[in-house]
Amino acid sequence: MRNLLFRNIFRPPLTEAAPDPSTASLAELAASVERAARRRLGRSLSIRQVDAGSCNGCELEIHALNNAYYDLERFGIRFVASPRHADLLLVTGPVTKNMREALERTYNATPAPKWVVAVGDCAFDGGCFAGSYAVVGGVAEVVPVDLHIPGCPPSPMQILQALLALLDTARMVKAVPFETGEGDV
Ligand code: SF4
Repeated sequence: MRNLLFRNIFRPPLTEAAPDPSTASLAELAASVERAARRRLGRSLSIRQVDAGSCNGCELEIHALNNAYYDLERFGIRFVASPRHADLLLVTGPVTKNMREALERTYNATPAPKWVVAVGDCAFDGGCFAGSYAVVGGVAEVVPVDLHIPGCPPSPMQILQALLALLDTARMVKAVPFETGEGDV
């Protein structure tokens, strides 16, 4: 027993080491996101995150965007507590029957122009929860989705890249109703 305890104390973790996203590519990507956000929106991008029934794995990756390494707020992107202050809804998980109305009400409370990003495989089609008696399905079954970020869960880098892709889409350019004064929108 004592041997087993000692072995477990000094043995390195068996889990796979996290990949190390290159600092240079993170900085380059974040600068692109910031430029695009300012060009398209003329200000910061406000995100309301909605957990429609996830296992919280996707939330862990989204929360990482706020840690000291990714530090999302320095690029003008921030999470807000109310959909009334949001430009974008970041929705995770399969939509459960219990959360369906909450998601619809959150969507309706978000002022236009607004965008919905479905994060993770569950948000696409229910993922491993598809077919459950408690699940409606993917996010698109309930509200219109502008972008889906695949993965189980997607990494913070993938989420950042997807935000940049969304900011660069023609649809978003068309939907922004005000002039930015830069002449390219
Ligand atoms: S995609 Fe994976 S991590 Fe995200 S909610 Fe579904 S099972 Fe959890």
